[in-house]
Amino acid sequence: MVLLHLQLHLHLHLHSFKNVSMQVSPAPPKLKFSNSTTDLTPKNTTESVWLPRLTEKEFKLYSKESYDKKSYVAPQTEKCATTVKLLRPHKLSDDYLDEYLEEKSTENRTVDRDLNILMINSLIICHLNKSPKCVVPHFELVQETQWGLGWIWEMKCTKCKFISEKYKLFREINTGRPGRKSATINYGFQTGVINCNIGNDSARLLLTSSCIPPMSKGTMQRITNNVCDKVVKLAENETEQVVESFRKRNQTLGLNKNSPVKLQMDGTYQSVHIKSRHKMGQNASQVIGIACENETDNHAIIGFHLINKLCWVGAWLRGKGYDIECPNHEYCTSNTNRYDPLSEKDLGYEIESLLEMKLSQTALNQMQFFSNTYKYESVNRTICTYLPKNKNFSRNALGRASAAVLKVNNKRDVALAKTLKAVGCDLGRKSRAVVALKKYVNVKYMIVHIKKVYVSN
Ligand SMILES: [Zn+2]
Ligand SMILES: [Zn+2]
Repeated sequence: MVLLHLQLHLHLHLHSFKNVSMQVSPAPPKLKFSNSTTDLTPKNTTESVWLPRLTEKEFKLYSKESYDKKSYVAPQTEKCATTVKLLRPHKLSDDYLDEYLEEKSTENRTVDRDLNILMINSLIICHLNKSPKCVVPHFELVQETQWGLGWIWEMKCTKCKFISEKYKLFREINTGRPGRKSATINYGFQTGVINCNIGNDSARLLLTSSCIPPMSKGTMQRITNNVCDKVVKLAENETEQVVESFRKRNQTLGLNKNSPVKLQMDGTYQSVHIKSRHKMGQNASQVIGIACENETDNHAIIGFHLINKLCWVGAWLRGKGYDIECPNHEYCTSNTNRYDPLSEKDLGYEIESLLEMKLSQTALNQMQFFSNTYKYESVNRTICTYLPKNKNFSRNALGRASAAVLKVNNKRDVALAKTLKAVGCDLGRKSRAVVALKKYVNVKYMIVHIKKVYVSN
């Protein structure tokens, strides 16, 4: 055992004394060796060998860039038994990607079902009118135009010279304004994104992996902004309505319409650095104050306020040496000075002014001491779900928080249908999407289903 160990040691030692080097040549070799990468080991240990040109990935196995990035070094050559000569690798950036791609392609498109069928029928009639002699047409796509997730198709018949009109295969949002109209599918999709714990990049990945060409990043962001503006308004309207209904109730009961409503308040902190939502810390970057009414079992949210310290544009410009202060500069996403400590009291006063009601001292104290009830836990969970931590820099934080408020005050299905309607893409009562939405929400349905499966025997 000891002997073997010694021998092995000696062996390595011997080789390290050899003048072993590794050369990297920019020029192709005069003599071409076998292209097979299966047998790279030379027969004789002293033989100098040109390797076939490697891919970038394979090349990195043998050699890496020197510190000055001007040449290559081979860290392993001291231990090896041969002189290996390397050619520079292929400089194809999608070298690795291409390996996994196929010639044939799946091209999935999202088109409106009924508009698609309408197109087929229209094609047949138009073709018959224009080319009565072409009995059996053969249609092909001439051109397709992407409209986010919507598509416009133009068809031709390969057997005659027929070219169709352009068919819009998406429903448009009725803006009431002239000019380019948006596809409802795009607005619906972005509404979904802000209702999920994902951002636009993840959403694009979902589409890509379904072989559906995603819309461009810019288009996505623009639509998200529009959707968020509408969702914020909707949530504000809704919380105002809740307050209004309490005023009406007070009047009906013969009270002053502004007599106080019992409230519970809480703040949820978001921080890039700390995890606890209860520790204010100096790093807290966003805080959402929420006031729920404590008069009914609904515990509806009647007011909320988001303090956002984060401003990507501001941070970036400051990094570039510009003297810029948040908030209120162009494209600013923050609504507070970044040096202001986030205070629970301020949040309480903000909500107070929002509700146009005087909050009791108890309510303000609650803001400080975070009296947590079951309802709050669920509200906080919802808010956190809607505001993924790594998406904190987004200017859409308020939109996402508003979507969360709508979800808390309504059931998920109602909240989504309401939001989609406000955004301009109504769901059809009998659509399959709505059938799915009902099943998605209805836990009772699940229990009935489970019972069917397990209890029927
Ligand atoms: Zn034809
Ligand atoms: Zn800013």
